Amino acid sequence: MQGTPVNIIVGSHVWIEDPYIAWIDGQVTKINGQEVEVQASDGKKVVANLSKIYPKDEDAPDGGVDDMTKLSYLHEPGVLQNLSRRYQLNEIYTYTGSILIAINPFQRLPHLYDAHMMEQYKGAPFGELSPHVFAIADVSYRAMMNEGKSNSILVSGESGAGKTETTKMLMQYLAYLGGRKGTEGRTVEQQVLESNPVLEAFGNAKTVRNNNSSRFGKFVEIQFDKHGRISGAAVRTYLLERSRVCQISDPERNYHCFYLLCAAPQEDIDKYKLGHPKTFHYLNQSSCYELVGTSDAHEYLATRRAMDIVGISQKEQDAIFRVVATILHLGNVEFSKGKEIDSSVLKDDKSKFHLQTAAELLMCEFNALEDALLKRVMVTPEEVIKRSLDPVGAMVSRDGLAKTLYSRLFDWLVDKINVSIGQDSNSKCLIGVLDIYGFESFKSNSFEQFCINFTNEKLQQHFNQHVFKMEQEEYTKEEIDWSYIEFVDNQDVLDLIEKKPGGIIALLDEACMFPKSTHETFSQKLYQTFKSNKRFVKPKLTRTDFSIAHYAGEVQYQSDQFLDKNKDYVVLEHQELLCASKCSFVAGLFPPLAEESTKSSNKSSKFSSIGARFKIQLQQLMETLNSTEPHYIRCVKPNNLLKPSIFENVNILQQLRCGGVLEAIRISCAGYPTRRTFYEFLHRFSLLAPEVLEGNNDEKVACKKILEKMGLAGAQIGKTKVFLRAGQMAELDARRALKL
Ligand code: ADP
Ligand code: MG
Repeated sequence: MQGTPVNIIVGSHVWIEDPYIAWIDGQVTKINGQEVEVQASDGKKVVANLSKIYPKDEDAPDGGVDDMTKLSYLHEPGVLQNLSRRYQLNEIYTYTGSILIAINPFQRLPHLYDAHMMEQYKGAPFGELSPHVFAIADVSYRAMMNEGKSNSILVSGESGAGKTETTKMLMQYLAYLGGRKGTEGRTVEQQVLESNPVLEAFGNAKTVRNNNSSRFGKFVEIQFDKHGRISGAAVRTYLLERSRVCQISDPERNYHCFYLLCAAPQEDIDKYKLGHPKTFHYLNQSSCYELVGTSDAHEYLATRRAMDIVGISQKEQDAIFRVVATILHLGNVEFSKGKEIDSSVLKDDKSKFHLQTAAELLMCEFNALEDALLKRVMVTPEEVIKRSLDPVGAMVSRDGLAKTLYSRLFDWLVDKINVSIGQDSNSKCLIGVLDIYGFESFKSNSFEQFCINFTNEKLQQHFNQHVFKMEQEEYTKEEIDWSYIEFVDNQDVLDLIEKKPGGIIALLDEACMFPKSTHETFSQKLYQTFKSNKRFVKPKLTRTDFSIAHYAGEVQYQSDQFLDKNKDYVVLEHQELLCASKCSFVAGLFPPLAEESTKSSNKSSKFSSIGARFKIQLQQLMETLNSTEPHYIRCVKPNNLLKPSIFENVNILQQLRCGGVLEAIRISCAGYPTRRTFYEFLHRFSLLAPEVLEGNNDEKVACKKILEKMGLAGAQIGKTKVFLRAGQMAELDARRALKL
């Protein structure tokens, strides 16, 4: 970023670092060599090193500028002030070149997204109107139509930053552009839009960070026919958080669907033998049951309606909610010690009632279900043993069944939505929209954070490659002078995580296949292997934690649950029980294992791990993304109170850093953020020097003459384009305006 202050003198307006608000403005009162004394605007006098002081643009417009590259002084405090000024005016969108920064308003701004707005953005040249998600969607659509190339829009940001809302807006706009007017009933675009509430009911939950937090990643691919109309769509989901089904803590909630069902009309409540959420163990671990501002009863009906539109039949809907109710009943089954050592029995009549209800709802034998929870068949190479589980083991078995049921149900919904909306296999043009969890670093970080941060490393690399490498390649191609700017490549972190063999995922899989491993032996192995890896850190005062130096900062992971969470197997007893259910829906969630895989299910070679599978999913996603023209939207959460009008500087800067926004600004400004083909340039600016068109000059010479006449220092002429430094376009435009 534009760094060393050049013209700082006594009286200059400057920015200095502040521990609380990141940057504070003030006026220089004294300079002594490298030491500068500043009278800060909060009344304090501060002394700082000259290199840590940035000039403040006193003429910056009060309302800010809509593109960061238009700032005359582009540095961290300038960026922050610009965003802050705009946010106070409810201007939540700002460009940084072609990246859109979106700051969550935490209040409805209906006029911003109404039909009139959509109309305005339709076909408007990029940058002509205020920054907006619609503009990004419009550019993607036009690019797709004009160049016949697929596009993608990558929405990122931390939990609660507004990714999912942004995604919905993008889809609404694309449906507006590619929809058919006046069609009755279920149109493809309607189904695409209505798939959202269905997925949200089953995949979203209230968390500390967001009342409607998506607990899965999502890539929606919208297919268009050659006339640019929506002809199909596919939804791909990533890593649903399974643990939430059985475990929640104050003030979070379980997945919305559980509460919706408990608020269903009486008839349904009776059918599923339900009651208040506080009577269910899976829900009453937290004392939060209601969401302020929403009615679960109303949402239940809305979800049912959305299911209708998406094409889920009444019969299927009934089965879906039967599975949801089953999970609640399962959670209430408790165990106590049995007569034999290490065995268990149902704790009481209440437990029996819930287990019976679960068996009825699943349409399977009560005894078989009981056995599946209390006993485990052990197949060793030598013999087959039926072993009882102790109460703790039985509870783990119960929770395992609940989680498996839920995740299979979720996958079923996703498949159903894809089948029902339909795929257009002839479509050559897609717009993909990615809504995926941002970088996470908590007090305690487990396997989920590891996978999420792995995803973000991948996406960051994609972003780097796009923004930085493309930029450099363009300069090279155009043969213009360009001293390469260093940027942080994160290939080394990716190698640490995913390299095969030898990366963390590979070592974790090895540990999972080896019966004697524990998280201790796994951690020891990591310490040994990555002793001298710069991206790997063994933290002090722990024997099993490990840290990774991610692009967005160091994260310390607790390894104790890594092995369990990575193992992806369904207990054979559960599988056989449910496969035999008289309900075809339930049986369908557990298709019989192929002969082949049953036989070898105990062989390590068939072992499948969540980590390895996720790695493959991610690879496929990256391949898809790499075949598209990407567009980026960075969502920012202005405060942790989820309230409007509060702009927390330090917090926001950290997010801009994680999202690569600051880095992108730095690179873009150091180079030539504006480029125009000779033709475009002449078309726009020949009026500044009409004489260049007269003497048969070729385009390149004509452009050169204009630049010379305007005295633009640093601008360059490439092979096909003019390259301008930051701010020069604005300068030319201003002069052009005088002539018009
Ligand atoms: P994320 O998907 O990034 O976790 P969400 O998209 O669910 O975050 O947004 C969290 C909440 O913030 C939403 O429920 C909504 O209340 C609010 N919000 C986000 N974006 C907007 C917006 N553009 N306008 C109004 N409210 C918004
Ligand atoms: Mg979300």
